[in-house]
Amino acid sequence: MADRRRAKSISTALESWFAHAARDLPWRFEPRDPYMSLVSELMLQQTQVSRVLEKFEPFLERFPSIEDLANADEADVLSEWSGLGYYRRARMLHACAQAIVEQHDGEVPRDVESLCALPGIGRYTAGAIASMVYGDREPLVDGNVVRVMQRLHNNPDQQNDPKTVKWAWENATELVEASEEPGVLNEALMELGATVCTPKRIRCDQCPVQKHCKAFDAGTTESVPPPKPRAKRKELFCASVVCIDSKDRVLMEQRGEDGLWARMWQVPTIEREDRAPTTEEIGDTAELIDSFVHQTTHRIVRFDVYRFDEISTRDRSFKSRSQIDRLGISNAQMKVLTSVFE
Ligand code: SF4
Repeated sequence: MADRRRAKSISTALESWFAHAARDLPWRFEPRDPYMSLVSELMLQQTQVSRVLEKFEPFLERFPSIEDLANADEADVLSEWSGLGYYRRARMLHACAQAIVEQHDGEVPRDVESLCALPGIGRYTAGAIASMVYGDREPLVDGNVVRVMQRLHNNPDQQNDPKTVKWAWENATELVEASEEPGVLNEALMELGATVCTPKRIRCDQCPVQKHCKAFDAGTTESVPPPKPRAKRKELFCASVVCIDSKDRVLMEQRGEDGLWARMWQVPTIEREDRAPTTEEIGDTAELIDSFVHQTTHRIVRFDVYRFDEISTRDRSFKSRSQIDRLGISNAQMKVLTSVFE
């Protein structure tokens, strides 16, 4: 009973806090649009809001409806996603739109089970759509929510341990069951984790649930959850070879189906796991014009950029600058192109 009362007080405090503290974001208007919510949720996974804000509206201008997205070429979807990273999400969003058009007459389904059956939709996104768009009493848990829950309960376990995540889902369910407006409660929990109960520089003085917070009482807010042990990132060595023809077009190639930057476009690039490509592999007279390091979640990628005009055009094609602007290109390859053109 005491737990239920506590859950009720926390959810009420979060809901009223969110009414005045919510950031003004372009997908947050009532009633929520299912398609816009789907796009924003997929974009926000592992990407900062500030970066999503740059891409969200242009993406919707290009693909204003779920049918437009479903009928688009994948290359156009990847192009519009350029700069957001994690391009697998763009392909999944595209496949998801196609499945919704084919299987649900273009209506984003409401129940969690049907949502989870769609490409790219996991339990978190399904909970977000079901609760925020349709107002259903469904919980959701992302990294922000796990951290807030751990602090509210002073749970010192590793944040990404499956047991901790399962425990967070149970607690999120309790809160959503006690809430007046499940969608508001869920969004408030995530907003609290994103703006107040952040990993570092926590703003407990502005927290609407401080009086319920066990980590705050125990003085452990800085150590709960404990820092994640970092997996060592693997190195990758890339030699990107820029070849420009007499019409000022750049030779481009498309990456393979799987792995890092799958199906993205790039200037011809030789990759090695253990060493930088040799000049014999690149071309003896290639001129080194730039070097930089690009980091991804799992990789440290060391790029050398060369100019060389005698490279094979097999499986490659020359593209004008305006054509390149419409290709899906990773941030790393954007840097390669920038080193040539700026
Ligand atoms: S009091 Fe501090 S640690 Fe506790 S939930 Fe609020 S912001 Fe997080």
